[in-house]
Amino acid sequence: MASLYLHIPFCEKKCIYCDFYSIENSSPMEEFLSALHVEIDAYAEFGKQESFETIFFGGGTPSLLSPQQLESILSHLHHTYSIESDAEITVETNPGTVTREKLTAYRTLGVNRLSIGIQSFHEDELRFLSRIHDSAQALDCIRSAREAGFDNLSIDLIYALPDQTKERWEANLQKAVALSPNHISAYGLIVEDNTPLSRMVRSRLVSPKPPDEEAEFYEMTMSYLDAHGFEHYEVSNYAKPGFRSRHNYNYWKHENYLSFGPSAHSFRREAGESRRWFNIANLSHYCSALQEGRLPLLTEERLSLSQLRTERILLGLRSDGLDVKRLDSELPSSTTSRVQMIHDLVEAGSATFDGNVLRLTQKGYLICDEICARLM
Ligand code: SF4
Repeated sequence: MASLYLHIPFCEKKCIYCDFYSIENSSPMEEFLSALHVEIDAYAEFGKQESFETIFFGGGTPSLLSPQQLESILSHLHHTYSIESDAEITVETNPGTVTREKLTAYRTLGVNRLSIGIQSFHEDELRFLSRIHDSAQALDCIRSAREAGFDNLSIDLIYALPDQTKERWEANLQKAVALSPNHISAYGLIVEDNTPLSRMVRSRLVSPKPPDEEAEFYEMTMSYLDAHGFEHYEVSNYAKPGFRSRHNYNYWKHENYLSFGPSAHSFRREAGESRRWFNIANLSHYCSALQEGRLPLLTEERLSLSQLRTERILLGLRSDGLDVKRLDSELPSSTTSRVQMIHDLVEAGSATFDGNVLRLTQKGYLICDEICARLM
């Protein structure tokens, strides 16, 4: 099964921690949409080869799209590609950009899942992150989404902010769970290079939490969400039974995905080889390439068997388990020392192994990067 991703590269205002490609000025929206339609056509051949079971609008802020703009993209996708009738269609939603009317229109167009970027319910934390919404708008967004008929809602939260106490993080978790979302993504704050946050850290205006303190927040998150019925199915993702993100799951299972928009990247397993290609992360170059009849590619890579294998290990361990049998049959390797490593992980309580699938425990998730490095 394959997935489609569309990167909508506009935000009302950049958040201090964000390194995703987007610009603050959305006046080139129509020019972007024209280019996007050309790019959708450019890969029409793939539409004849497989069917797509998820569509994900990410960004940037896709909830800046008017219902008419979203409709024109969706109808073009349906016209060009074979989309499953029960496809998961997600729109990343910024609470500061939607009304109940807009969400009702999205739902009518077939969008069936919202991933809502709430991040925190504390006003000072939202201001620190430079989010455009406040806590009341976040609650309004959830209420409006339910009134609009959405029954598959995901909430994004960020923990381990510089001055955040565990009590305040627990209050965020409590509020999130009380809203009964089907899915929660909880990320530790990362100081990405070339962001305002990284400059603040360099100038010693803020100090990131030390790793062991961040790990305590992470442990708290895992325990709290587990106690409230959420399955921890990826390092940062938790879902009620039946509500895992099918789109992200396809990424983690190494399924094909086709992506559109500046900075988007695609992956495809083809006979004998796999390749990944990346679009340029610049809106005006993206638009001009497509206007001139060129693909807006930045780079393309062919993946060797051993690269694929490495990725499969990383993706499997970070999500709900590495299917060792499938790995060995699809991507064979001559390495034999892994058997001992699996034994050691299970002995140490960092993983479970049922003979097929190696799955990290809570203890293992805490040292996931270290385990991946050892296994590779
Ligand atoms: S709204 Fe999302 S994509 Fe835009 S700057 Fe903030 S975190 Fe990044």
